Amino acid sequence: MSQYWSAVVNGLTPYVPGEQPKIANLVKLNTNEHPYGPSPKAIEAIRAEASDALRLYPDPTSERLRAAIAARHGITPQQVFVGNGSDEVLAHAFLALLKHDRPLRFPDISYSFYPVYCGLYGIEFATVPLDENLAIRPDDYLPTDGQAAGGIVFPNPNAPTGRLLPLAEIERIVAGNPQCVVVIDEAYVDFGGESAIPLTARYPNLLVVQTLSKSRSLAGLRVGFAIGHPDLIEALVRVKDSFNSYPLDRLAIVGAVAAIEDEEYFERTRQAVIRTRGQLVSDLSALGFEVLPSAANFVFATHPTRDAGELAAELRKRAIIVRHFRQPRIDQFLRITVGTDEQCGALIGALREIL
Ligand code: PMP
Repeated sequence: MSQYWSAVVNGLTPYVPGEQPKIANLVKLNTNEHPYGPSPKAIEAIRAEASDALRLYPDPTSERLRAAIAARHGITPQQVFVGNGSDEVLAHAFLALLKHDRPLRFPDISYSFYPVYCGLYGIEFATVPLDENLAIRPDDYLPTDGQAAGGIVFPNPNAPTGRLLPLAEIERIVAGNPQCVVVIDEAYVDFGGESAIPLTARYPNLLVVQTLSKSRSLAGLRVGFAIGHPDLIEALVRVKDSFNSYPLDRLAIVGAVAAIEDEEYFERTRQAVIRTRGQLVSDLSALGFEVLPSAANFVFATHPTRDAGELAAELRKRAIIVRHFRQPRIDQFLRITVGTDEQCGALIGALREIL
């Protein structure tokens, strides 16, 4: 702590990102990146833009990208907001769209950035326990005694469990909370979920957030977006323009447009991950792990007799890194990103040795 720190800094409990090791040749299955590279068309577009054009500021409205996202989802650009990763989009949504005098509700086991934003912006929150199967219980998100929440946010599929809520349940939560905004964080939806984007046409209180970091394999480019009623989008734009009018640089805009437009590559690589996930689940089960049903590009698994922290440490000795959370109720689970067939094969081989 320094005498020059503000009270705000003193009060922060920052997010701890998953490890990004500097060593090459690791089997890196810890932060849910896509094992295949981004669309070659995205790389080509970025190369072409890496030119004298960088002298100029990017388009502050990212119009081309918003148009490409709108075209893909059958909506208008006025319903699309883009930002520097979905983390930034979520941060702006927290500031712009939550009633700060009533608690925001989110699951007790979920994306750990949510309480961090609450701390940053002084937003009250109340976590909602998952059920005995580590699933979200939709009824817990309906107002009781007519008391509206300040907002609701959760990932679908949830992280780090990978569990999916069916669209009908999402709709019940959104329809049951007309007084507040419901943010559905669909970071992993392309690996087996059904997006709530079509519901935004009927519910002006629904904001759906997606990212190009996972299914588009562009975590390094930092592009995320939100889709919702133009009034919600307008609020996000106001926050953006009060903070950083140019969150997306020129390389990010052209790369993201090319990636969104390369449907064939997206579909092929997404299906490859889904196929490998099926094999990974059956291999882990054969080794005695209990694996939660996953609709994401990771699986959440626990072994009945072996300590998860020790397993993670043993894997690390063999140059394989997975994620272990020291959080009550899930400290006996490993979250394992679905890699290539070879990477998952190496993981299973190492586990066979360890167990
Ligand atoms: N939401 C969830 C549930 C996530 O797991 C992540 C990735 N850590 C994000 C949002 C943020 O992703 P990005 O900022 O790369 O878009």
